[in-house]
Amino acid sequence: MNKYWSSFAKRADPYIPGEQLNNSSIIKLNTNENPYPPAPSVIEAIQKELGDSLRLYPSPTTDGLRNVIAKHFRLQKENIFIGNGSDEVLAFSFMAFFEPGKQILFPSITYSFYPVYAKLFNIPYKELDLTYDLTINPPSYFHSDGGVIFPNPNAPTGIYLELDNVEAIIANNPDSIVIIDEAYIDFAQESAVPLIHKYPNLLVIQTTSKSKSLAGLRVGCAIGHPSLIEGLERIKNSFNSYTLDRLAIVGATAAWQAIDYYQQTTESIKETRKWFSATLTQLGFQVLPSQANFVFATHKEVPALYLYNQLKADNILVRHFNKQPINNYLRITIGTAEQMEVFKNKLTKIIRETKNG
Ligand SMILES: *Cc1c(COP(=O)(O)O)cnc(C)c1O
Repeated sequence: MNKYWSSFAKRADPYIPGEQLNNSSIIKLNTNENPYPPAPSVIEAIQKELGDSLRLYPSPTTDGLRNVIAKHFRLQKENIFIGNGSDEVLAFSFMAFFEPGKQILFPSITYSFYPVYAKLFNIPYKELDLTYDLTINPPSYFHSDGGVIFPNPNAPTGIYLELDNVEAIIANNPDSIVIIDEAYIDFAQESAVPLIHKYPNLLVIQTTSKSKSLAGLRVGCAIGHPSLIEGLERIKNSFNSYTLDRLAIVGATAAWQAIDYYQQTTESIKETRKWFSATLTQLGFQVLPSQANFVFATHKEVPALYLYNQLKADNILVRHFNKQPINNYLRITIGTAEQMEVFKNKLTKIIRETKNG
């Protein structure tokens, strides 16, 4: 605390991201980055933009990128908002659609940035428990006072909520907004985006950080009814006219046009996820059914924190959350098949040695 801080700064309880280590010998499976490179056309587009044009401000409206994303979903650019990573889109959405004094709902086990934004913007929230199998219970989200937000698939469980359940939550909140954070949707079944035609209270948020291998470029988007997008524009243009730089705009535009490439890398990750989940089960883990680019697993005998530390000593980084009831779980990002093979061998050795005491 400092006496010069505003009440706003004092109230803040900042998010702590997963460790970023600059050590290439580490197998980094802790922040759900994609192990495959971005599409070659993305790198070409960024290289082409590197030059005199950096003298000029980027587009304040990012209409070119909005049009490309709109075309992908058969929508109009008025349905698309662009931000500096979906984290920024989320922050603007909390400001644009949630009201101080009206309670919002999200799961007790979920993306830990939500309570951070809620505290910052003075929005009261209720964290709803998951069911015994760590799934979201749709009816508990009906008739919220101030709105609903959850990721689908959920993080860090990786569990996907079927679209008819998602729709029930939206339909039963006609007077408040429902935000679906689809950071991992490309690794899952079906997106809620088509539902925006039916529901003016639905906002879907996506990112290029996970399935499009561009966590370092920082581009996210929101998809919804034009009046919701206008609400987001009002907030954004009260902060910063240029949230995306020129390199991010051309890179993200190329990425949204390289869908064939990303379908291949996504398919590889899904295959590795299937093999790796079965491998963990054989090693004595309980593995939640993941539709994301990570798995969430708990070992029947060996404590998660012990495994986390042993793996780290072996140069493998995974994520452990020191929070009930998930403190005996590890969240493991799906890397390449080769990385997961190394992981499997080291993990097998750790578990064998532990059991032999
Ligand atoms: C990774 C992630 C994000 C943030 O993505 P960025 O676009 O990189 O800011 C948002 N929500 C969830 C649930 C995530 O896992």
